[in-house]
Amino acid sequence: MTRQLPRRPGLLVTDGAAKVLGVNADTVTHWTARALCGEVGADEWFPEKGGSVREAKAVCRQCPVRPECLDHALANDERFGVWGGLSWPQRRDLKRQAAA
Ligand code: SF4
Repeated sequence: MTRQLPRRPGLLVTDGAAKVLGVNADTVTHWTARALCGEVGADEWFPEKGGSVREAKAVCRQCPVRPECLDHALANDERFGVWGGLSWPQRRDLKRQAAA
């Protein structure tokens, strides 16, 4: 069975993953539970083409789980939306710099 985490849509934890981690999937605390974007909705993080992400990035700068969020986006090659305060082009550049 797959469970939807309480904040960012699309992020899932499975019973299998919880078993590997030795935790109860019903009670595991995930960084997404402290995500500020979960408090205000995700629309600004995934705008229509040409839309501004300025407000989303401003919220990200105050977010207590920004490092975890950015790590997740880099590890999973997230190509859409703002994660960890960075847009996809910024994350792509960061990955290129890290690989150089
Ligand atoms: S850093 Fe930004 S996108 Fe990531 S969880 Fe925090 S508010 Fe959401």
